[in-house]
Amino acid sequence: MGEFELIERYFAAVGAERSDVVQGVGDDAAVLKVPADRELIACTDTLIEGRHFPVGFAAFDIGWRSLAVNLSDLAAMGAEPRWATLALTLPSIDEEWLEEFVGGFRALALAHGVALVGGDTTRGTLSLTVQALGTVPPGTALRRSGAAPGDLLYVTGWPGDAAAGLALLQGTLGGSGADRAALELKFRRPEPRVAFGQKLRGIASACIDVSDGLAADLGRLAAASGVGAVVRAAELPLSRALYTLAGEARARAYSLGGGDDYELLFTVPAAGRAALARATAASGAPACHCIGEILAGRGVRVVGEKGDLPLPKGWDHFAT
Ligand code: ADP
Ligand code: MG
Repeated sequence: MGEFELIERYFAAVGAERSDVVQGVGDDAAVLKVPADRELIACTDTLIEGRHFPVGFAAFDIGWRSLAVNLSDLAAMGAEPRWATLALTLPSIDEEWLEEFVGGFRALALAHGVALVGGDTTRGTLSLTVQALGTVPPGTALRRSGAAPGDLLYVTGWPGDAAAGLALLQGTLGGSGADRAALELKFRRPEPRVAFGQKLRGIASACIDVSDGLAADLGRLAAASGVGAVVRAAELPLSRALYTLAGEARARAYSLGGGDDYELLFTVPAAGRAALARATAASGAPACHCIGEILAGRGVRVVGEKGDLPLPKGWDHFAT
C-alpha cells in the first residue's frame, strides 16, 4: 500500500460530518467555514513514542490520546471543538495497527463532533501531531491570566489517577483488580472536559488544563495572572482507587505532581459561585472540588497539617 492509498483508506472520512467543512481531506489544504460571530481557537500537541506513551502502547489508545490532549487544550479555553488535522509519522505500514489507531481517534472525534479535515503522513519514528480547531463567542475565551486575589480555586475530577495509571503500566506501582484497571484507564483514555469548559465561560476568571501536574500548572496560571495561590493538601480530591493502591502520602504526591490528568484547574470570583454551583449540578458535569484560593503576591504554596509541603516539579522536556 502506498501513501495515497493509505490516506484514502484510513483518513478520508474520520469523525463527524460537518456542514462547516467545505473541503476536507483530499486537496492541498482544508477549507473551513468560521461563523462570522465566532473567534477561532487553535492548538497543537505532539505525542512521541517512548516519551508521551510507553513503547507498545495500544494503537487504539494512541489514537484516542492524540486527540484527547488537544481537545483538553480547547476545553481549557472554553472552546467548542470543530475540526482537527493529524500529522502522522509511522515506521512502517501495519494495517492492523492503523485500523486500531484510527478507531481510537474516531471514537473520541465522534463523541465531540470533530471532523478530521487534513494532515500529513510520513515515515520515521512513531509520532503524532494533532492540531485541534474550535470556536468561542468573541471575547469569551478562558485564559490563564484572569485570576484575582480572593478567587476560589477548583479542579475537576481526581488528579493523580492518570500518573498512578502510568506507574502501574510501567511497574513502578503495584496493584491489581478493579482499582488497577480504573487507574490505567485514566491514563490510557483521558476524557477531556470539553462540555464543562464551555460552561465555565462567564464563570471562571482563569483556567488551565492539568497536563504537567497540578502544582506546576497552577504555577503557570498564577504567574500568568500575576498572583499567588494556596492549595490546602487536605482538600485535594483523592480517588478511592488511588488511595487504596498508593496510600495517602504517595496518592497526594501523584495528585500534586503527576501529569496526564487533563482535568480543568480554574478560579472563580465570589460573584460566580452561584453560577458554578448550577453548572456543576447539571447532569453530565464532572465532579468539582474547591482546593484552595488565589492570594495577592506571587508563588504557589501547598499547606498541610504540619505546614507547607515541598512543591513537586512539573514535566519539562528540556529540564537539565
Ligand atoms: P500535499 O503533498 O499537497 O501536502 P498530501 O499528499 O500530504 O498533500 O496529502 C493529501 C491529502 O491527504 C491532504 O488533503 C492532506 O490533508 C490529507 N492527509 C494526509 N495525511 C493525512 C492524515 N494522516 N490524516 C488526515 N489527512 C491526511
Ligand atoms: Mg500540496
